[in-house]
Amino acid sequence: MPDTQRKKNAPDAGLAGRLADAIGRDGPVTVAAYMAAAASYYYSHAVPFGVQGDFTTAPEISQMFGEMTGAWCVDVWMQSGRPETVHLVELGPGRGTLMADILRSATAWPDFRNAAQVHLVESSRRLRAVQETALAGCGVEVFWHDDLSSVPAGFTLVVANEFFDALPVHQFIRQDGAWHERAVGHDAGKNAFFFTVLPPTVDIDGIMPPDFATAAESSVFEISPASLTVMETLSERLDRDGGAALIVDYGHAQSGLGDTLQALRRHAYADVLENPGGQDVTAHVDFAMLARAARAKSATVFGPVGQGAFLNALGIGLRAEALGKNATPEQREDIARALYRLTSSAGMGVLFKVMAIVPAKSAVVPAGFDGGDA
Ligand code: SAH
Repeated sequence: MPDTQRKKNAPDAGLAGRLADAIGRDGPVTVAAYMAAAASYYYSHAVPFGVQGDFTTAPEISQMFGEMTGAWCVDVWMQSGRPETVHLVELGPGRGTLMADILRSATAWPDFRNAAQVHLVESSRRLRAVQETALAGCGVEVFWHDDLSSVPAGFTLVVANEFFDALPVHQFIRQDGAWHERAVGHDAGKNAFFFTVLPPTVDIDGIMPPDFATAAESSVFEISPASLTVMETLSERLDRDGGAALIVDYGHAQSGLGDTLQALRRHAYADVLENPGGQDVTAHVDFAMLARAARAKSATVFGPVGQGAFLNALGIGLRAEALGKNATPEQREDIARALYRLTSSAGMGVLFKVMAIVPAKSAVVPAGFDGGDA
């Protein structure tokens, strides 16, 4: 297993070579284009999650994460008058672990399970196969989609864990009193990628907070139009059909300046410009910007709150205790470790944030938040 994994995540001359050729021919590409190419290659060639992979996500740490998410979904469904059909949508489901845990935890509510159809938005054909195996025998029909547009109309609950951080960001860098778009060039002599600049390809006026217009030399500003488009589509859909969305990711509650692009390989930080397509490249999620996009499409926003606060409010502590009752001492230690990792500020409890949206006209108050925009 470690050998095959190593091969899967090994430097890939395929994508690096293709990118180098394209840059040699047409010139540098934006950071966003580089990130999109790297992510698409990475997710379609590797199964990156878990101890053997490059990083571990919350649902992969413990079933408790999915159980809390499942309880959250059932609660919204109940508050919504128990609609007879629920489109249970997950964006970027990875190995399918979160959805499997949500469905398993919902066995206590057969009416919810009977109402549910699962719709997975997943671009990687390879991960679709992994998800199919994970959900085989779950007793609920599962459909795959390239994006939200093909998910049939009707009451919708959406979950997205570590999805938005994988979507490409455009980076702008302040140089000589002006904003330039950050781009990636390739030095054929050294066979190495390097950062350079291009004229902006996105109109940042009106998007950038006014305070940043005169930022210090070398400041970096990031924006993810792809994320904003998903948020808008999602909000419009919820406004039309009813429902709610739960977004969990690492990032900041307020828009800020700074380069947050990072690469993870085998659980350690790596150089973003090395080995494109062979490691996970992500950026912090700007929750303030996602919230603004949602509000512009008639959504009420709850949070973001820290993942720790959210999971504690949903009762993860009680669940850990209950699981511990029938466990061996070793298993009890595992449960305690997972709880700490998911909820503590030293773990994922603060850096990871949770935001929910519901249509402005909905009376639903999603669990786990103190209150919404109102
Ligand atoms: N939610 C999972 C996996 C997170 S990794 C977990 O928590 O473990 C990101 C996931 O999003 C992967 O499944 C990846 O293939 C998918 N993904 C990335 N970009 C995408 C895009 N543009 N459209 C659809 N899925 C995408």
